[in-house]
Amino acid sequence: MTEKLFYTDPKVFEWDAEVTGAAFHDGLWHVTLDKTAFYPEGGGQPCDLGTIAGKEVIHVMKKGEEVVHIVKEKPEGTRVHCQIDKIRRLVHTQHHSGQHLLAAVCLKMYGAKTLSIHLSMNSAAIELDVPALSDEQLENIEKEVNRLILSGRRIRIFYINRAEAGRYDLDEIPEGIERLRIVEIEGVEYNACGGTHVGSTSEIGPLKILKTERVRGHVRLHFICGIRLFEDYKEKLSLLADILEKLSTAQDTVLQKIEKIKKELKEKEQKYNALFDEYAELLTDRFIAEQKGPTAGKIFPDKTVKELSVISHKLLQKGMKAAVLGTILENKIILSQNGDLAIDCGKIIKQHAPAFSGKGGGTPVKAQAQFPDSEKLNEFFRFVTGHLGN
Ligand SMILES: [Zn+2]
Repeated sequence: MTEKLFYTDPKVFEWDAEVTGAAFHDGLWHVTLDKTAFYPEGGGQPCDLGTIAGKEVIHVMKKGEEVVHIVKEKPEGTRVHCQIDKIRRLVHTQHHSGQHLLAAVCLKMYGAKTLSIHLSMNSAAIELDVPALSDEQLENIEKEVNRLILSGRRIRIFYINRAEAGRYDLDEIPEGIERLRIVEIEGVEYNACGGTHVGSTSEIGPLKILKTERVRGHVRLHFICGIRLFEDYKEKLSLLADILEKLSTAQDTVLQKIEKIKKELKEKEQKYNALFDEYAELLTDRFIAEQKGPTAGKIFPDKTVKELSVISHKLLQKGMKAAVLGTILENKIILSQNGDLAIDCGKIIKQHAPAFSGKGGGTPVKAQAQFPDSEKLNEFFRFVTGHLGN
C-alpha cells in the first residue's frame, strides 16, 4: 500500500521515497513507491506530473491501494528523490476547490445540481441539471462565488464512516465505500471527495465564468480561477497589444477602427462587384463569339465561385442554353441551364460527381460541385461537357 502524501499534506511537492516495485508493460515502466505525493487521475481531477530520480513521470493512476507511476525510463536505485510539477498541481487544486464552491452556489441559488465535472490545465467545467441559466443568473452566481472566495472560508478535510454520512447532506455514495473523505467549505457545504484542495476559499483566487454551452439538454458552465485566470489575463493582454499594434490604434479607439475598416471593405467590395459586372459583360460577349454550340464550357484559373455565378448568369441571359464553368482556384464547377433543356443540373452533379471524388448538388437549373483537386475537376468537366453534347 502506498502512503498517500497528497491526502495528508497537499503542500508536499518534493520528497524521498523507497521504490517498492517496477514492472515493464508495453514499453513503459510502472513504478510503485512506499510514499507518494503524485495525485493519481481520479474524481475528475487529472494526475500530477513530475520526476522520479530525474526520470519523467508521464501518467499516474490508482490500482487498488497502490499508486502506479508510469515512466519511460526506469529510475535508478531503490532510494529516489521525487518532485511534482508544482504549478500543474496548484492549477488543478484551485480549479477543484473552485469547482466545489461554484457547484454549491449553483445548487443553493438556483437548485442547479452538478452532474459531472471536468478539470484541466486550461479551464474547468461543470455540467448542471438545468436546461439554461440567464445572463443575470450567471452574473449572480459569479458574484456570490467571488464574495465567498474573498470572505476566506476555511476548507477542512476529515474522515467519517459511511454510517455517519446522513449528517452531512452528501450526494449518493457508491456501494462498497466505507470510509469517506469529507471536504468541508465552512458554512457552505460538505462534499465526499478524494481530490486535492486549498486550505481556504481565498486561496482559490478570483473565479471567472467563461461561457456556457448546452449539452444533452443541460448547461455546461466553463470557468477558470486562480493562477490560470492570471495566466489567461496575461495572454489576453498580450493578444490585445498585438491587435492594437497591427491596427495602429489604442484600446479606447479599437472598435471605431474596426468599424471603419469594415465599412471601407464593404465599399470596396461593392465597387469591385460593379467593376466585375462590367468585365463579365465584355468577357461573355467574347466567350459567346468563340462558342460553336449552345453550351458554353470553360475552366478559369483564378475566379471565385461567386464570380463564375455572375458569368454563367450572363451567358444564359445572352442566349446560351447551358454553361459549365469551373475554377481551379476553388476546384469547383457550376453547371447551369436556361430551362429549355430536358436536363436536371442538380441530379447530374449528385449522380456523377462522386465518380470523380466530387460532391455537391442544386436545382434542375443550377448546381455546384466541389472536387479535391484540379485533375478531378478537369476529368469531370470533360465528362459533363461530353454528356451535354458540346
Ligand atoms: Zn471534488
